[in-house]
Amino acid sequence: MPQADASLPERYDVAIVGGGVVGCAMARRFTLEGARVVLLEKAVDVLDGASKGNSAILHTGFDAPPGSLEQRCIAEGHSEFLEIRESLGLPLLQCSAIVAAWSDEEVARLDGLMEQARANGVDDIAPLSADEIRQAEPNLSSEVRGGFRVPREALMDPWSTPHAYLLQALANGTEVRRACEVTGGRYDGNSWLLETSTGPLRAGSVINCAGLYGDLLDQRLLGKTDFSIRPRKGQFLVFDKAAAQLVTSIILPVPTEKTKGIVVCRTIFGNVLVGPTAEEQDSRSDSSTDRATLAHLQRKASEILPDLADVPVTAAYAGLRPASEQKDYRIQAYPERSYVSVGGIRSTGLSAALGIARHVFNLHREFGHRYEALAQPALPVTAARLSEYDSRAWEEKANGGIVCHCELVTRAEIERVLQGPLPPRSLSGLKRQTRVTMGRCQGFYCAGALARITEGAFDCPLAEGEDADG
Ligand SMILES: Cc1cc2nc3c(=O)[nH]c(=O)nc-3n(C[C@H](O)[C@H](O)[C@H](O)COP(=O)(O)OP(=O)(O)OC[C@H]3O[C@@H](n4cnc5c(N)ncnc54)[C@H](O)[C@@H]3O)c2cc1C
Repeated sequence: MPQADASLPERYDVAIVGGGVVGCAMARRFTLEGARVVLLEKAVDVLDGASKGNSAILHTGFDAPPGSLEQRCIAEGHSEFLEIRESLGLPLLQCSAIVAAWSDEEVARLDGLMEQARANGVDDIAPLSADEIRQAEPNLSSEVRGGFRVPREALMDPWSTPHAYLLQALANGTEVRRACEVTGGRYDGNSWLLETSTGPLRAGSVINCAGLYGDLLDQRLLGKTDFSIRPRKGQFLVFDKAAAQLVTSIILPVPTEKTKGIVVCRTIFGNVLVGPTAEEQDSRSDSSTDRATLAHLQRKASEILPDLADVPVTAAYAGLRPASEQKDYRIQAYPERSYVSVGGIRSTGLSAALGIARHVFNLHREFGHRYEALAQPALPVTAARLSEYDSRAWEEKANGGIVCHCELVTRAEIERVLQGPLPPRSLSGLKRQTRVTMGRCQGFYCAGALARITEGAFDCPLAEGEDADG
């Protein structure tokens, strides 16, 4: 057997840059196909970019441009999600969506939208009169004029889902390096030599899943890029759990060319979500919220669901979509450099991630690398059970007591995650894996106990603020 040259850095088959939902799904796909994968993430935890703040809808792609790459990836992603859902323990609230029209102009667009849905293979949609909508959703404003139902739109857990993808990749040999920024690299015709903030490594191929920084990474590694990211902020309001009884379906507006518009829906955690806005901005990292926009969202919320006016708001947040100058995804293979750029995954990446990963693997197959697919891939060892609509860990006997009373998060759950294969390295990471501090008091009551339990676990201790990377 040839000896490895000790002077060279370690070599992987594939380096995936970016630990958002797309990078996590990509790591899983390439690992299952038999590649030796390393996932590199510059933040201290995964899911710290666009993937940390979305609406968490499992889209059918009914309104995607027919024939687009986005539409194909959503359809494939949606169906693979349903296939692996049980084996990976992925939470889903199968509640369906109603596209609701509020004006004559919107009513006039319904037929075209339904045609588009059918062209996209979403042929189980059903037109609804205003009366039928009111019957289905009695708390909706009586101003609703008509619409249609999309039965297979559903609600996901935006974090435990990509975590489960990555955990399965880890269980089958993927390595994850966090707080590891790819700063440069070159291809010698056989391998990439990547420079990172934690040292060099080699890889046969690079898959750029850097989200909001995808064009910049192309520039760094290829010296050119095919697209430019134009971050598009979406602000949200999260209403108290009492509001969840007011609505069952996902209430979608009639989408425009630019945005899917303001949605009202439950979350899988039992709250009600209103948002997102669509605000173009230059900053790739500023996900702050502002009072005027939140006030607008609050007005909009009570126009759609009047009883929301009496429900307290638990939290507000914003996410940044990695939009580009074109509507469709920007996935480009560079066979001569053994590199695929996965850019512009703007507003449907959570639904499409598994489909994107398959598409990229098929592109990569053309590069001529051969791996042997795993015959019996291992399943992830831990699956978070955070859905309000399933049984929860606090219902178990030996749960160690409840730490976060708003979200009913137990000590045993927190310890399991801290000792698990992907231990969070920041409070944000722990929140995404357990929901601790994400309830009504936003950590006011449990922060002390949490600081004791997590002592020594985070790069930046609780007492010193949140994430080390801000
Ligand atoms: C407001 C909003 C609402 C949305 N609603 C939905 C929805 O309901 N349903 C749905 O399906 N989708 C939705 N989306 C879209 C979805 O969230 C995105 O498409 C998805 O998160 C994009 O994931 P990503 O992995 O491509 O990017 P990211 O999550 O941004 O991941 C990229 C990662 O790369 C890392 N990185 C960048 N540069 C480097 C480097 N040089 N070295 C190492 N690491 C690097 C970043 O730190 C980041 O973690 C929504 C998005 C937003 C913002």
